[in-house]
Amino acid sequence: SGALPRPRHTRIITIANQKGGVGKTTTAVNMAAALAVHQLRVLVIDLDPQGNASTALGVDHRSGIPSVYELLIGEVDFADTIVQSASNENLFCVPATLDLAGAEIELVSMVARENRLRNALDKATLEKYDFDFVLIDCPPSLGLLTINAMVAAREVMIPIQCEYYALEGVSQLLSNINLVQAHLNPELHVSTVVLTMYDGRTKLADQVAASVREHFGDRVLNAVIPRSVKVSEAPGYGTTIIEYDPGSRGAMSYLDAGRELALRSEREEEGRS
Ligand code: ADP
Ligand code: MG
Repeated sequence: SGALPRPRHTRIITIANQKGGVGKTTTAVNMAAALAVHQLRVLVIDLDPQGNASTALGVDHRSGIPSVYELLIGEVDFADTIVQSASNENLFCVPATLDLAGAEIELVSMVARENRLRNALDKATLEKYDFDFVLIDCPPSLGLLTINAMVAAREVMIPIQCEYYALEGVSQLLSNINLVQAHLNPELHVSTVVLTMYDGRTKLADQVAASVREHFGDRVLNAVIPRSVKVSEAPGYGTTIIEYDPGSRGAMSYLDAGRELALRSEREEEGRS
């Protein structure tokens, strides 16, 4: 595996799908780890009160620590929330604690409530850490937290599970993305779609994959993430599949997906205004 190109500008990517359990968090942490093993510098921002991304990156997320919650309400600086992951020196996390559960409501009455994450990600800190990618792991809703993520990012990555009703809800997600694009963040666009939990033994999985490719074209990564027990086990050890079992099909598929994502940086650059 050769070196991967570094993007010229930090690529900030929101991983969103309001459906729960489709592989958002799994994709965020494993894609991040896949990029980090190629010496790319990656930050995962955990924006789900469950803190599953923090867990998978081996990062403390007990209530009260400086987390994305304190960042959103303006109690701490971005730099104070960034923690290095246990498994890779190029991989960092802004953890989420259960305190974030109240944020969706608290944000409603705040000034610039949709822009709080974007405003908090100060340029000096992004430059100091020299991040190549920032991946934002969203909660399973289209509320203010996800809107904050869409305003802070330039790209959206949509994980789609290869199962019944896979595309159900995706049109609602797309219309929300269009609203944010029209009113809050003109550069926002769906750059990437990842097919997750693919079970090659079922005809259905192929049908879903085909209809997603028909709908999203070449934005769908060629690499498809297989359903694999090992992928679901890794977070229990506070790590990613890339470290837990680097030779497994799950790890290989995320390494392939990460490579594709990185190789598309030039194309993303072309659309920059
Ligand atoms: P979301 O963040 O969208 O809610 P998760 O990433 O947490 O979804 O995944 C939901 C569940 O499915 C978790 O228990 C996770 O471990 C499991 N899972 C995710 N991807 C895979 C996969 N490729 N194979 C097997 N289990 C998976
Ligand atoms: Mg999740």
